[in-house]
Amino acid sequence: MGKVIIGNKIKDEFYKLIFDKYDDLSMSRKIYILITFLATILLLFESVINVSIGVNFWMNFVSFFYSLVGFMFFLLSRSSKYYQRSILPFFYFSVSLYIFVWILNAGSQGSNVTLMITLFLISYAIVQQKHRVVVFLTFLALFSILTITEFYYPKITIPFDNNEQHFVDHFMGNFFYFIFIYLIINIIIKGYILENEKAVLINSELQKKNEEIADSLMKLNEADAELRIAKERAEESDRLKSAFLANMSHEIRTPMNGILGFADLLKEPDLTGSEQNEYINIIKKSGIRMLNIINDLIDISKIEAGQTEVVLSECNINEQLEYIYTFFKPEVEGKGMLLQLHNSLQLNEAVIETDREKIYAILTNLVKNAVKYSDNGSIEIGCFLGIVEPFELTFYVKDTGIGIPKNIQNMIFTRFVQADVIDKKALQGAGLGLSISKSYVEMLGGKIWVESEEGKGSTFYFTIPYHPVEEGGMQMIYSIPNIVLPKNKNLKILIAEDDATSEILLSEIIRKFCNDVLYAKTGLEAVVACRMHPDIDIVLMDIQMPEMNGYEATREIRNFNKSVVIIAQTAYVLSGDREKAIAAGCDDYIAKPINRQKLIALFQRF
Ligand code: ADP
Repeated sequence: MGKVIIGNKIKDEFYKLIFDKYDDLSMSRKIYILITFLATILLLFESVINVSIGVNFWMNFVSFFYSLVGFMFFLLSRSSKYYQRSILPFFYFSVSLYIFVWILNAGSQGSNVTLMITLFLISYAIVQQKHRVVVFLTFLALFSILTITEFYYPKITIPFDNNEQHFVDHFMGNFFYFIFIYLIINIIIKGYILENEKAVLINSELQKKNEEIADSLMKLNEADAELRIAKERAEESDRLKSAFLANMSHEIRTPMNGILGFADLLKEPDLTGSEQNEYINIIKKSGIRMLNIINDLIDISKIEAGQTEVVLSECNINEQLEYIYTFFKPEVEGKGMLLQLHNSLQLNEAVIETDREKIYAILTNLVKNAVKYSDNGSIEIGCFLGIVEPFELTFYVKDTGIGIPKNIQNMIFTRFVQADVIDKKALQGAGLGLSISKSYVEMLGGKIWVESEEGKGSTFYFTIPYHPVEEGGMQMIYSIPNIVLPKNKNLKILIAEDDATSEILLSEIIRKFCNDVLYAKTGLEAVVACRMHPDIDIVLMDIQMPEMNGYEATREIRNFNKSVVIIAQTAYVLSGDREKAIAAGCDDYIAKPINRQKLIALFQRF
């Protein structure tokens, strides 16, 4: 083992000495460098031997001269610039040298034949492919010419002087040639091993790259498919949005047209009382329609922005259903239709934990649609409790209206869809109500669907998980609020409101059932008024007021008066106002624009 290592070390050092960067060189280049080096050494050695054994001057001169030329080729072989161009000259140099050696070294009697084979092999290995025929033919010609010449003119070659010379030539010559061949074979084998190792390495790298490429190709394909889907979705959404915008423009312009047009007509001096009433009604309806659109837009934007939260609280389902029933009854009956409520919930089952506002919004949407899309017959609102676990409450709103074609039934819950697929010249709407309802139902953990037949009517169903509230359930039951003015006219009401128009509106709404109204224009004035009049029954508290806002004023009032009913009224409908108002100490909340019926229904509670 040790010897092998030392041998290898010597070889490594030797390689380092004659080759610059062994591993970076091509195999033929290595052989070329080695051969020029060995030729130089050999020729020098030959010269020394010749001198010592006393051969003639010309032979000495030639071998010395050639050793110098050999050295020059050694330098050229190491130069990456000249080595390629120096190979053929070196080959001819070797051939010419060989002719001398043949003549001086006793022709076929000497070790020349071995030398010729060695030279041929080496030259063949190092020259470029295109020169190999030349090398082959040159050696064939050389061998033939020299052999034939020697045969016919034997005196042309210089024989050995004595046996000693013959022996030295044979022994040393062949010895050196064998070492030549050994080294060259060594380089070739080493080259092949190296090449093989490189090939294996390259192969495994290629394989790795191949796998990586296959992997990224797969990912690219996946991304491509995803992009395609995203593109289709974007296009679809773009199309829907454009249709939505067109529809929205129509939806806003139509009521605006009504409001502005009839407001103008109202100015006419010779209008009869009933004409005036009719115009005012149209203006009011158009305003409500605008407000519905704005509310829907705000709701859908909140949903899309992920800002809609589920606010759980105790909610009396009976109360909600009855409230909606009472609210829509006049409108439905006004259309000559019947509104029915089928509620199978017992009193002690009716109070559950859910998001009251969302249930209200969903039911309102469904009933509004039922009213909108029916002209005769009846509308039925209902609710029943499931009998299998997990228990669910199922609500339904059934109408005998125009119905929905089968092919669009699954599309109507997608936002903006109405504008795109349903040609409904006569009916108004932004196509958002059902998609808002669907989002709300899903937020609450339920599902929504429709069963409908064209021309016969539709039934919309939705479910929510049933989480009953055991305690206090009975207390939460309210009586059916009738939208009639309260008999009690002795209420003392404080209107805290900085906007004059809103103040006039409120005064007008409450004037008929309240004989003592106080006014405050700032939060601070409201607090002072409450201090000075502890007998105030209800405060209608605007939230945005100068000096002190409605929340702060409420908190202040609550410090000295816990019993006064405070109803917040605000135009912000964007963020959990109801919860904020209740947290500040208000008893309830009403959104602007104030709906007269809603406000009266609220008063009924207290
Ligand atoms: P909008 O009512 O504002 O158009 P919705 O999202 O509430 O938007 O409803 C989407 C579509 O579903 C409506 O345009 C209508 O074609 C259809 N639709 C909803 N409810 C009913 C119903 N009760 N009867 C018939 N069609 C309905």
